[in-house]
Amino acid sequence: MTVTSPITELKGVGPALAQKFALVGIKTIADLIDYYPRRYEDYSQLTGIADLEPGPVSIEAVIEEATGRYVRRGMHITEAIATDKTGSVRLVWFNQPYRAAALKSGQRYYISGNYELKQRRFSLQNPSVEMVSDLPANTARILAVYRETKGLTSRQIRAAIIQVLPLLKTLPESLPSELIKKQKLVSRAEALTALHMPESTKQLETARRRLGFEEVFQLSMASLLNKRENQSESALAIPFEEKLAKQFVGSLPFDLTDAQRRTIWQIYLDLQKSEPMNRLVEGDVGSGKTVVAAMAALMALAQGWQVAFMAPTELLARQHAETIYQLMKPMGREDSVGLLVGSLKNGQKEQARAAIAAGKIQFMIGTQALIQESVDMHKLALIVIDEQHRFGVDQRKTLMAKAGHMPHVLSLTATPIPRSLALTLYGELDVSILGDKPGGRKPIITEIASPNSRAQVYQHIDQELDSGRQMFVVCPLITDSTVLQLNSAEAVYKQLSTKDFKHRKVGLLHGKLKADQKQAIMEQFVRHELDILVSTTVIEVGVDVPNASIMMIESAERFGLAQLHQLRGRVGRSSDQGYCYLMMSDSKAPGRRLRALESSNDGFRLAELDLELRGPGAIYGTSQHGQLDLRIAKLTDIKLIAAARQAAQELLDSGQNLLQYEHLMTHVTRLRAVTNLN
Ligand code: ADP
Ligand code: MG
Repeated sequence: MTVTSPITELKGVGPALAQKFALVGIKTIADLIDYYPRRYEDYSQLTGIADLEPGPVSIEAVIEEATGRYVRRGMHITEAIATDKTGSVRLVWFNQPYRAAALKSGQRYYISGNYELKQRRFSLQNPSVEMVSDLPANTARILAVYRETKGLTSRQIRAAIIQVLPLLKTLPESLPSELIKKQKLVSRAEALTALHMPESTKQLETARRRLGFEEVFQLSMASLLNKRENQSESALAIPFEEKLAKQFVGSLPFDLTDAQRRTIWQIYLDLQKSEPMNRLVEGDVGSGKTVVAAMAALMALAQGWQVAFMAPTELLARQHAETIYQLMKPMGREDSVGLLVGSLKNGQKEQARAAIAAGKIQFMIGTQALIQESVDMHKLALIVIDEQHRFGVDQRKTLMAKAGHMPHVLSLTATPIPRSLALTLYGELDVSILGDKPGGRKPIITEIASPNSRAQVYQHIDQELDSGRQMFVVCPLITDSTVLQLNSAEAVYKQLSTKDFKHRKVGLLHGKLKADQKQAIMEQFVRHELDILVSTTVIEVGVDVPNASIMMIESAERFGLAQLHQLRGRVGRSSDQGYCYLMMSDSKAPGRRLRALESSNDGFRLAELDLELRGPGAIYGTSQHGQLDLRIAKLTDIKLIAAARQAAQELLDSGQNLLQYEHLMTHVTRLRAVTNLN
């Protein structure tokens, strides 16, 4: 048997069980080893029967008189007495008629189960029983509990694992040996053995430290290699023109915040180099990232070069085009701004392409499809990516092939990534943080509302609408799902437009509408021809309608913390007081997530909290990353992360041939393709 052997080579794994294993992705022995436990149950402590206390317990005892009988129709009970030096205890099993015959009277066993009071007597209910041995699988030890599916239990997985123990113990090492020594790590073989069959909590901790270190180390290697590769490319060095920058700042209807100034300065320093910039600007919703991006673009435009601005949706691309047009107007550069999106008519597209080729349009705004467009991009100096996590190595290479050089890349995100995480995941990026918000904004008032306070909420909303404000309503689904019974956008639209707010103008927007329909509805809302816009999460990112001051989220408990914070950021974008109502589907007590939102407007704090709530590895706001989620390492374990990152840097700096670490490089290569935002 080797790691590539199919799981059916194990004893007791026939075709039927193999199918169950396949359901959780286990086909080979390697897959089985890679199937990490979700949690553990500690049955390692043996207790004398006289000292038993209610709860999970383990004993070593002799079993006497196991008997089975049917008590009612279809209900079977097996009972036995277990005895050790200190006393006796009753064991009870329900509907396991084979039990009695399987237990030998007078034999010594390990017995683990829950000691509880049932019908006024203490007993062990449905305990696990194994002959006393050096290697019990299900009793008298720390038990690994796995993600189960119907017909595949942790017990069965443990039975499989126990057979691969000899193989586990001889697994080859995957980290450089100096690193193992220096970091005082246990070997991979030891770590994986202990992960599945720990002998003590301490051993388990040591194993987890080793595996967590390795995860972060690999991730860091991937991002550092990407960074190094990017630095070896060349970009157009964009000169800084002070007069132009001053003129732009002077043309704005507001003063830049300190964070905006700092950030734009960092960007200008980067752009002047022929080494490609790869910078991420992290700023909470409403922190004013668009202006920063426009100001960066300005310098490239002044050289007669091109800038591409990519938004996640057409809707946003159109909005950005409008915003940027207005920003460029006082500079006399509005004619160089052009929109290129999929829904344009062919004629319009041709026109745009021709204008780009002729150098008339220099500032192209579109969705990510922009890089696929057959437009002349040979002078592309800078690309700005708004809220896109999937802009990776491949896309950058596509652009480089088109332009003949690597463009500078500026990524904007409202996902406030905690520092520990940014270092690991986005180590190849330089990060600027827009930590302060433009002044004059009041914190958004957030309220959790149960179904029976709806009328009261509506009353307040109507007052706000009366004073000329507008409202977003966000629903988790487009149409009604009888299974989930959620408030769909269509149902809510009907309810509000024909009943609760029939005296107001209500619109409906969702992802299934055609691009021009969406655009038309959005424009109506922007022009205040609609008071209320009911939608799905299509409006999640970027939409900027300062007059909209109310956000109402239906079935709020269905959304993630990051998403709710994003949605809330659609309001409170002017000096008017913003409100966010988190409408619950039922009258249950709200969970910690909703309560956190109610008490905090700070995206960074919420991000930290989200990490805590979701446990190790769940990477905030990056559900689409999947492959990137860490399985062992906690992102809050700053010390481990720092050590692993530094070790990765040192290995790269050592100039060693990395190909000698085959296992490591296989993983790193895969990660290089999926680390995003780079
Ligand atoms: P986001 O960071 O969420 O993309 P935007 O760039 O859309 O934010 O900016 C939000 C709003 O704040 C816009 O209406 C913008 O004009 C305005 N804004 C940007 N910077 C400032 C500032 N320094 N002072 C006041 N308002 C600002
Ligand atoms: Mg934005």
